[in-house]
Amino acid sequence: MANTFAPLPPVPDHPALEHEILELWEREGTFFKLVERNRGGPRFGFMDGPITANNPMGVHHAWGRTIKDVFQRYKALRGFDERYQNGFDCQGLHVEVEVEKSLGLDSKRDIEEYGLAEFAARCKERVAHFAGVITEQSKRLGMWMDWNNSYYTFSDTNIEFIWRFLKEVQGRGWLYKGHRSTQWCPRCGTSLSKHEQAGEENYVELEHPSLFVRLPLKERKGESLVVWTTTPWTLPANVAAAVKPDAEYGLTREGLWYRVEEKLDPDAYVAKVRGEELVGLEYEGPFDSLPAQEGVVHRVIPWDEVSLDEGTGIVHIAPGAGADDFELSRVHDLPVLMPIDESGRMLPGYGELEGRTTNAVEEPVIESLHERGLLVDVGTIVHRYPICWRCKTPLLFRVVDDWFISAEEIRGPMLEANATVEWTPSFYSKRMDDWLRNMGDWNISRKRYFGLPLPFYPCSCGHLNVIGSRAELEERATARLEGLQELHRPWIDAVTIRCEECGGDVERIAEVGDAWLDAGIVHFSTLGWGNPQRVEHGNATGAAAGLTGADLPDHSYWEKWFPADWVTESREQIRLWFYSQSFMAVTLEGRSSYRAVLAYERVRDETGREMHKSTGNAIDANEALERMGADVMRWIYCAQPPSQNINFGYGPADEVKRRLLTFWNSVSFFVTYANVNGFDPAAPRSELKALDRWLVSRTSAFVRDATAAYERYSTPAVVVAFDRFVDDLSNWYIRRSRRRFWEGDATALRVLWKALTTALQVIAPVMPFLAEHLWRSLVSANESIFLAGWPEAGEVDDTLLTEVVAVRRVVELGRQARAASGLKLRQPLRRLVVAGADPARSHAGEIAEELRVKDVEFGDVDASELRVKPNLPLLGPKLGPVLRDVRVALQEGRFEALEGGRFRVNGHVLEPNEVFVERVGKEGWAVAADDGLTVALDTALDEELLREGRVFDLIHKVNAMRRAEGLELTDRIRLWIPDEDLLAYADRIKEDTLAVSVELGELRLEKA
Ligand SMILES: [Zn+2]
Ligand SMILES: [Zn+2]
Repeated sequence: MANTFAPLPPVPDHPALEHEILELWEREGTFFKLVERNRGGPRFGFMDGPITANNPMGVHHAWGRTIKDVFQRYKALRGFDERYQNGFDCQGLHVEVEVEKSLGLDSKRDIEEYGLAEFAARCKERVAHFAGVITEQSKRLGMWMDWNNSYYTFSDTNIEFIWRFLKEVQGRGWLYKGHRSTQWCPRCGTSLSKHEQAGEENYVELEHPSLFVRLPLKERKGESLVVWTTTPWTLPANVAAAVKPDAEYGLTREGLWYRVEEKLDPDAYVAKVRGEELVGLEYEGPFDSLPAQEGVVHRVIPWDEVSLDEGTGIVHIAPGAGADDFELSRVHDLPVLMPIDESGRMLPGYGELEGRTTNAVEEPVIESLHERGLLVDVGTIVHRYPICWRCKTPLLFRVVDDWFISAEEIRGPMLEANATVEWTPSFYSKRMDDWLRNMGDWNISRKRYFGLPLPFYPCSCGHLNVIGSRAELEERATARLEGLQELHRPWIDAVTIRCEECGGDVERIAEVGDAWLDAGIVHFSTLGWGNPQRVEHGNATGAAAGLTGADLPDHSYWEKWFPADWVTESREQIRLWFYSQSFMAVTLEGRSSYRAVLAYERVRDETGREMHKSTGNAIDANEALERMGADVMRWIYCAQPPSQNINFGYGPADEVKRRLLTFWNSVSFFVTYANVNGFDPAAPRSELKALDRWLVSRTSAFVRDATAAYERYSTPAVVVAFDRFVDDLSNWYIRRSRRRFWEGDATALRVLWKALTTALQVIAPVMPFLAEHLWRSLVSANESIFLAGWPEAGEVDDTLLTEVVAVRRVVELGRQARAASGLKLRQPLRRLVVAGADPARSHAGEIAEELRVKDVEFGDVDASELRVKPNLPLLGPKLGPVLRDVRVALQEGRFEALEGGRFRVNGHVLEPNEVFVERVGKEGWAVAADDGLTVALDTALDEELLREGRVFDLIHKVNAMRRAEGLELTDRIRLWIPDEDLLAYADRIKEDTLAVSVELGELRLEKA
């Protein structure tokens, strides 16, 4: 007999088989064959959101990368022509901070001493290294991409496309330089924008000093304002105190002004006024003797936003050290004192504090206030405080010049564009709208080094020159163009240009761009927007030269692939990449750059906590790939509803492996019997039995449902459909057909083979390795499952499927009833009554067989009865001596149920509150019910049933003996049994144990 199918081991070794498949794909060039096969087919445009090539891929990246691969594979199986360009994000603060760490640099001065050219070289090396690492990890995960043609956001080409965008923005009058108070990272030495900082993770609980400081009023001897602050370093820059005009303020006996607190005794105040009455009063500043404070007149100003919930109701205002403070300085024409430099150290003009960090001045500030009797109270406070999204340093406020793109005119068009996008989960669409409605102007400048060089050349004549391309730069350059090896600092800084207005020489500003410009432009830079002709390796320019072979296509290519049909990234990208790409696309083309989005939440550890290297619960992606396997990881990601965090870990992985085993065992079962019976899938098929027709229909329904799930980007629905199908396949079709497999029924084998191989095709995008591995064994050793296309869903007999669903529910409940009654399944029973499962009516025979009952009846289940008991404390006084007779009558069931829950007993009417009523199973019946379906098993046993129970016990025992003696599935036996009664059932025993003879004797068997 030909051994057609390779036998399977008891459990799959996922990592081992995955390595084999990776080699196979590599050797056979499967991916490129697939791309070739689909060329010219219908298009499915996917745009990859670039992963930062800065560290290895983590398990949190693997979620998104799995989803990307699942849908690219699915669409490819359906014949779609696709773009497989992976993207790497390569410049900006992410990369700089990591390079600083690796070089032991800790400030901008360190970087400048190290040298910008060298620093740029190290940044490029780091990107090149980790791009390589991530590529290998992604391949291991099973991600199919055109890995030799990845795009790199630091290429000169990408930079030039951003320049074009910025020139367009300037043309519309949206570009401006703003003088603003901004959140500032003293370590990175740069301002940070709202969209970078908006995430929850950018806030931590920190402890800070809490100071109540007295500010003596100049005109009112003995009276002082009291202000509250948690930032002592800002007090030397104080210029005003704000009160809420319509709030009530009171003067205490100690001469201190606070807002009036209702909970205090009204007599606590010697005077009360409205805030507006304090406005205009002058006071002595807390640090008037500092040179920086020379000439500053401190006064009380009105401010409606003063919080009455915390502090004293009087707010210390330092416009150089706070955002609201700065706004108030514009309204009230206040001086702006800037206390700190870009590294967060006190500037000259602040006396002894000069050169110290904001933390280091806390002590001397408090000490000085204390000495001068200005400190009313001092303590500490723990509060939520912003930290740098990149380096985790607590942020400060500084007033600086930054470059902004006004969001006012683009807001409406962006909202309109978002309305055309199909979001999954759908409620994220509203999140995007909320972000767009509230977004401020886009702060695009960073005072850093290795980033997009902003092409802004402000001339002393007042004209702002913006360069829109490298060609324009070359044409207008007046010096040092020859040293421009790439569009990065320091080389670009040396190139001066001619002012288009006055002809003078102009230098570039020093700032670089927000990294989200880099990622936002890729729908244009990688697709060749406006490019007259294709340039081979045209995206392998500048810093990307040598790292990729990516071409720069021409404009017709862009027209073909823009907008993307689909993008996917994590939900936080709403305020990051989804926002920046939309901003740029709506500006340049007036529409969204994507038609559909799938956004997903975060990866947590298996107990739901955030993963951190420091807490030891982080899981290394390489380790996970080799310990649980890529398919298992992918399964975990795909099973997860994207709107909820994933709890990822080895525990959940083991659970997935257990569940996958049902499918594995079904394939293994098939292989065993197919080999025993020399099954040939190519042989013509004979007539189908009812159960076969059901499985064919069930398989079609699975294809239909899973296809619909893929079409709506729902991997969880695909996984659920697969799980249910495998359960039906294994626990219904195979279970119910065992005898046919033993007998080598070719039709059963064929129907099972078709169901299994179809299931492989459907689940292949989710578990490409296992699917390929089993496909090579079941279908074709030489051709990939990914070249086999997508299975057609055949006709579905929904009526039949509904019937079997009902049958399976009846059987399930029947088993529960048996378990509750303590009767084992091998014991035959007389009768089962089923209520509420009409679709199962025509399958009574199957139910009887499954539950081992002689008869299945459909109808009302009258297997429970009413029990009524007297409520003695009420009935005793009411009935007196006749209570005894009523009690007996109730016990014996001699009562009549009346309307409204009353009962008549022995001529007495009992009210509902005078009795306790319950329903109990009738003696001799086991009942189980669920959701409108009830089954009742008649548990009465008679001689015949007991004898049959012994027959099944015997069969069970004999089959255990067969296994114990190592007999093959097909071996025939001779059997001796000790129980003469059971000889009458010899035929049944022979059939179920493959015995050729059954004789009386001590229990034993021998191979026939
Ligand atoms: Zn920082
Ligand atoms: Zn000029």
